[in-house]
Amino acid sequence: MVEDQKIIKETDPKFIEEIIEYGSKFFGKEEMERLKACIQCGTCVGGCPSGRRAAWRVKSIFRKAQLGLKDDALNDDELWDCTTCFTCQERCPRKVSTTDTVRVVRNIAFREGIAQPRHLAVCSYLFKFGHAVPINDETKATRKKIGLKELPATVHMFPEGLDEVNKIVEETGFKKIVEETQKAQEAKKNE
Ligand code: SF4
Ligand code: SF4
Repeated sequence: MVEDQKIIKETDPKFIEEIIEYGSKFFGKEEMERLKACIQCGTCVGGCPSGRRAAWRVKSIFRKAQLGLKDDALNDDELWDCTTCFTCQERCPRKVSTTDTVRVVRNIAFREGIAQPRHLAVCSYLFKFGHAVPINDETKATRKKIGLKELPATVHMFPEGLDEVNKIVEETGFKKIVEETQKAQEAKKNE
């Protein structure tokens, strides 16, 4: 009974509408609304390559959305195990926008300051090098070996482009979210 009360207290019935509203900006309302049609058949899980190697079960996120289990959904570490390969989205018999919904829930989580330290590290690389995965000596050597220029024609070759990358992340507010999340996580560590 106490457990039941706890679950009811933590439920946010508006969570599914929040996902639909946020996702509609990018994918359209009709597409996002199909989240409500998920019947937990498991077809998405059956074809998921990440699910074969990790505990990630994509359908659980749709159920949590339907039940309003927002905290549980946003703080689920496995949410980040999806590779966004779109296999599930192509196979869903109810045409739920599965992969897009995962991406929207991740965005909501990030916006609320929930991010893995490894994701924050990747963001720092983007700000510093203009690449989420900067080139290293091994990759440079491999490129040369197969007849490519040592550096790709990106910010690596044109470092002056880094200012433009940083202008984009600043103007979109992305850098601010990352910095605030980093600060919040540092403060939490020092508590
Ligand atoms: S395949 Fe579609 S309907 Fe079935 S569980 Fe996955 S999202 Fe839900
Ligand atoms: S998009 Fe994500 S959840 Fe869907 S099949 Fe691919 S890895 Fe699995």
